[in-house]
Amino acid sequence: LPRMQRGLPQKRHIKDVKHIIAVSSAKGGVGKSTIAVNLALSFARLGHRTGILDTDIFGPSIPTLLNLSGEPRLSDNNQLLPLSNYGLQSMSMGYLIPASSPIAWRGLMVQKALQQLLHEVQWSPLDILILDLPPGTGDVQLTIVQQLHLSGSIIVSTPQDLSLIDAIKGIELFKKTDVPILGLVCNMSNFTCPGCGGSHPVFGDMEKIRRVCEERDIRLLGEIPLDARICADADRGKPTVVAEPDSARARGYSDIAKGV
Ligand code: ADP
Repeated sequence: LPRMQRGLPQKRHIKDVKHIIAVSSAKGGVGKSTIAVNLALSFARLGHRTGILDTDIFGPSIPTLLNLSGEPRLSDNNQLLPLSNYGLQSMSMGYLIPASSPIAWRGLMVQKALQQLLHEVQWSPLDILILDLPPGTGDVQLTIVQQLHLSGSIIVSTPQDLSLIDAIKGIELFKKTDVPILGLVCNMSNFTCPGCGGSHPVFGDMEKIRRVCEERDIRLLGEIPLDARICADADRGKPTVVAEPDSARARGYSDIAKGV
C-alpha cells in the first residue's frame, strides 16, 4: 500500500540533492564513518558531485576525518554553507559546537539539531549525499528513515557476532521503513601480518556474514581488511582514498563505490 494509505507521512527530499545514501552500522566502532568517508571520496573521484552529512550529533567524526574545522558561513537566506576538502562537501555538528565541549541534550534539542542538519544546509547541487548515521537504531535513525526519501542504505559490519547481531537489527529497520538496502560492507575482514605474511581473520571468518547476506537476500558489496594504514590515514585527516589513491587499500573502497 502507498505510504499515505498506511497513515505514514510522505517522505521528503533534501534540496539540490539527487540521491541520499545512508551508511549505517547499528554497532559503534566497527568503522562505519571511515567507510562512509572513503566511499564518499570514491564517488567524488568517479566524477559524481558528492557530499557527506554527519548525523552523529554526540560523536561527530567527519571533521577529523576530513581535517576540517571552524564555523560554517551562512548563505543570504540563513542556510548553513558546507565545508569542503578533497572535492567533498560536508556538514557536521562538529562544525557548530567546539570539539571539547560535551553535548548533553535531551530528545527535543537533538531533533532540532537534526532538522537543521537535514533541511537548513545549502548544498551546491549534489548527485550523491552520503549520510553517516550514528550507531544504533534510535531516535535519529528513525527520524531519518521515516522522514527522508533515501535512495538506499549500506550496512557496515565486522564478521564478529556482536557486530552482525546489531547489523541485522539495522537491516530490519530499513526493511520495515521501505528503504532499499544496497548491500553490506564487511570491515576488518582479515589482517595480513607484516611479520609472517599470513592472513588472519581477527574478528572471525567471512562464513557467517555470507550466510546472513544470503538468508536475507542482501548483496555483499565488498570487504575491507584490518589495516594499520587505514587507521593512521583516518587519524591524520587524509582518508586512504586520497592519501594513497593508487593503492590496493584505496581500490577496495572504489570497487565498492563502483558496485553500488
Ligand atoms: P564507527 O563510525 O563505526 O564508530 P570509525 O570509522 O570511527 O567507526 O572507526 C573506528 C576505529 O577503527 C577508528 O580508529 C578507525 O580509524 C579504525 N578503523 C576503521 N576501519 C579500519 C580498518 N579497515 N582497518 C584499521 N582500522 C580501521
